[in-house]
Amino acid sequence: MFTMTKNVVRNLLTKSATRLYPFDVREPFEGYRGRLDNRIEECIFCKTCQVKCPSQCITVDAKAGTWDCDPFACVYCAICVDHCPVHCLFMDNTHRKPSAERETIHLQGTPKKKKAPVTKAAPATDASPAAEAAPAQDAAPASPAPEGEAAPAPDAPEAPADAEK
Ligand code: SF4
Ligand code: SF4
Repeated sequence: MFTMTKNVVRNLLTKSATRLYPFDVREPFEGYRGRLDNRIEECIFCKTCQVKCPSQCITVDAKAGTWDCDPFACVYCAICVDHCPVHCLFMDNTHRKPSAERETIHLQGTPKKKKAPVTKAAPATDASPAAEAAPAQDAAPASPAPEGEAAPAPDAPEAPADAEK
């Protein structure tokens, strides 16, 4: 009886161990994994999040520039957030609210334009210097050739002339 009275008095004088939710809401912890969102204007549609997601709830269409997620299939593991190369995926500290309807997150971005293919005009411009180099190579052997032929020509007649003397 004395022990029980002691506990009753102590509980009346101390603060409650629980909170009077929803009037007293606890602040979320740091690094809390809440609602998944995407800054779609920064997304490069690389599909890394779609490939890495263990519950396969993300669908990325690079051609259309869309990013879709089924929040009811998401297990809030944050693997997609950790692997996003441009860090446009993030989780805020709010809960996803209950819903009677199955909703998906659909975000429309701007698909990246493909680079124009390289035309064959570039090699054509390189041909002109090659064409200029070709005559230069032809001209080089042309000039020493007469010199090489001219040099032995005078020596040839001289050699037999000395031999006869
Ligand atoms: S990983 Fe990031 S950049 Fe790549 S498609 Fe997903 S949200 Fe976009
Ligand atoms: S948090 Fe996990 S389950 Fe949810 S979309 Fe990202 S990778 Fe998939």
